[in-house]
Amino acid sequence: MKTEEFIGKVKSGEVDIVEYIHKVIEECKKINDEYHYFNKISEELALKQAENIKKNPKGKLAGLPVSIKDCICVKGVETRAGSAILNGYKPEFNATAIEKIIKEGAIIIGKTSQDEFGFGSFSTNMGKGFQKPLNPFDKERCCGGSSGGCGGIVQKASFPHISLGESTGGSIVNPASFCGVYGLCPTYGRVSRYGLIDYGNSLDKIGPMAKDIKDIALMQKIISGFDKNESTSLNSPVDDYSAYIRKDVKGMKVGIIDFGIGESIDEPVRNKTLETIDKLNAKGVKAEKVSLPFSKKYGIPVYFLIAASEASTNLAKYCGMRYGASSELNGSSFNEYFTKVRSEYLGDEAKRRIILGTFARMAGQRDAYYIKAAQIRTKVIEEYKRLFKTYDALISPAINILPPKFDEIDKLSLLQAYTIDALTVSPNLAGLPHLSIPTGMVNKLPSGVMLTGDHLQEGKLIQLAAALRKE
Ligand code: GLN
Repeated sequence: MKTEEFIGKVKSGEVDIVEYIHKVIEECKKINDEYHYFNKISEELALKQAENIKKNPKGKLAGLPVSIKDCICVKGVETRAGSAILNGYKPEFNATAIEKIIKEGAIIIGKTSQDEFGFGSFSTNMGKGFQKPLNPFDKERCCGGSSGGCGGIVQKASFPHISLGESTGGSIVNPASFCGVYGLCPTYGRVSRYGLIDYGNSLDKIGPMAKDIKDIALMQKIISGFDKNESTSLNSPVDDYSAYIRKDVKGMKVGIIDFGIGESIDEPVRNKTLETIDKLNAKGVKAEKVSLPFSKKYGIPVYFLIAASEASTNLAKYCGMRYGASSELNGSSFNEYFTKVRSEYLGDEAKRRIILGTFARMAGQRDAYYIKAAQIRTKVIEEYKRLFKTYDALISPAINILPPKFDEIDKLSLLQAYTIDALTVSPNLAGLPHLSIPTGMVNKLPSGVMLTGDHLQEGKLIQLAAALRKE
């Protein structure tokens, strides 16, 4: 059943939402036993919300099951960003995006699994005690990351469903592509970060993942907008994204990013991207090759320096004293205590990022690394801005490969694992909206293309994605 039809039936009373949510929770538990898409299924909250909706079936999302990446705060529901250091943490408040969807009648079914604090591209850098989500099409393969649980449950759920993911450097488009669903990472600041557990404050965005582009448009409109609680949230008017679904794409111009169709790309991914470009051409879209030399050369090092620098300061607040995991003091000094808690409860990748980030911004190194990276980031933004004078959107694969097997991931060097993000980090550095569009199955695995747009041009991405659907 399509989302729109489902919401209509909830409103008319044709669907008994309490009964329905009982079934949804049962299905989630079953899926979770096998695939590990949830860190927490919020059964109690979901049923309470369903009771309320039954009494008062109102809102643009009335009765719709929505899952939430674990790093987004949901009041009263254990929220850990995939890290054991936050074991037992139940926020006292909702993130702004959560407030907005609850107001529209959404039912929150659970917190989804992810790389610890978002540090990863495969959802394999799990916090202590967390299980890796398995790809919905092949359990020996990953879901992508870091919003892996979101991608998995969106693909696997038999019920109408939207998920809220989060991206710092590609964590929405990557799992969307590996799980064969849509994922929109909006313009930086379009959705308030209030109540989002920070990875990198100048990079983090909340965005929707769904099986239908219409659902992406619906959800993006609801979660967007200015928030007085969050200083980087944008004050500009919010588009009616759904209006872009039926707009003609004839005459639009798309730039084909050179490293998207380059040498280090899996053949099937390359072919699917070219097929998509052909389909756009057939609809009257003009596509031509463009290059982003700065992003290509510096995207990865600049992203990892900035993201790790910000992460290393953000993680400093987890000291085992205020909330989350704690330990015995046993007469130890603050530093000893702090070291003990963090050694025990943070995973290897989190420790690595703390060391890298602390080094990059320490006195004596800062000019050579953090400051230099921030300067080059500006160049990356300028490079994109020049292209958007001519093009409505840029196209490339989201990821150069099909979802890899876990044993292949284990064999990757750290550098190889980081460079998987080659195509996704630069739009994130520039704060640009980007959308992953499923292109269908190859060798029984899903693949996706990515469209990147100018700031606040989410509508154009939705317009192009809608034109690619089978009518
Ligand atoms: N894979 C990237 C990283 O490890 C991006 C992750 C994200 O967007 N949260 O930092």
